[in-house]
Amino acid sequence: MRILKKNYKTQTITKYTNLERFNVGPFQVKQPLPANGLDQVSPFLLIHHAGPSIHQPGEIKTRLSPHPHCGFEPVTFLFSGKLHHKDSTGSEGFLETGDVQWMTSGSGILHSEGPSETFAKEGGTMELIQLWVNLPRVHKMTKPKYQDIKNSQIPLINQDGFKIKLVAGEYESTQGPASTFSSILAMMVHFEKGGETNIGIPSSHNSLIYVLSGVIESNGTTLETLNLGVSNKDGDAIHLQSKSPGKLLLLSGEPINEPVVSQGPFVMNYPGELRQAMLDYQTGKMGVLEG
Ligand code: MN
Repeated sequence: MRILKKNYKTQTITKYTNLERFNVGPFQVKQPLPANGLDQVSPFLLIHHAGPSIHQPGEIKTRLSPHPHCGFEPVTFLFSGKLHHKDSTGSEGFLETGDVQWMTSGSGILHSEGPSETFAKEGGTMELIQLWVNLPRVHKMTKPKYQDIKNSQIPLINQDGFKIKLVAGEYESTQGPASTFSSILAMMVHFEKGGETNIGIPSSHNSLIYVLSGVIESNGTTLETLNLGVSNKDGDAIHLQSKSPGKLLLLSGEPINEPVVSQGPFVMNYPGELRQAMLDYQTGKMGVLEG
């Protein structure tokens, strides 16, 4: 058990509850970010939450066809299930429950991802978060890369009833395995009822809590399942009190104060760069990938 730092000033939270829902193949996807009245929580641009959904053996047949990305980092946190990933850099990955995939699209990448053949055959529960992390302008056109992060590589910090898996950033002298292009903290957090803690956050960071399941109170604001809480940047810690068992994603990051334009899977700074990205894709400069 860790000794809590007592002199934190905990941040107040603004709650967003109206998330969009849509279907991608056999999966229902919820979109907590962007939300009504909230374009981004820089550097975090988008959060998609798929599942949890239960699939019978042989039920899943679809797979996402190859598609491009550029100018940001698509990150997948796999809370349950099995995924297969392939991309135009030649990387291939098999993710299992608790694994994370941190992809840097940079100057452009093509990838295909979906439930693995094993998962399709055996069935099971699928639940994942896909997060888009923006890249600062100086790194927008960096060489694409792929980090395959296994559950066993992710440090687990037990703190006051919260099991914190530190995916990226430094927390309490522990370093998360993901390498990032700007200062970021990313935590997959599981909790039991009756926990209470403070999680120290650099005060310059934007931060958010997305509750996948369960109920949390943060500094007087109650966040229920599928609620997004965005910090008002008025302190140096996020307060968490668990009202039930559950799980959440906690993200914080140094804001990137640069223009953002996006079109589909491309995120750049200026419209001319979007046109160039489309041209790069059409002329094969982002590589090729068989379907
Ligand atoms: Mn993608």
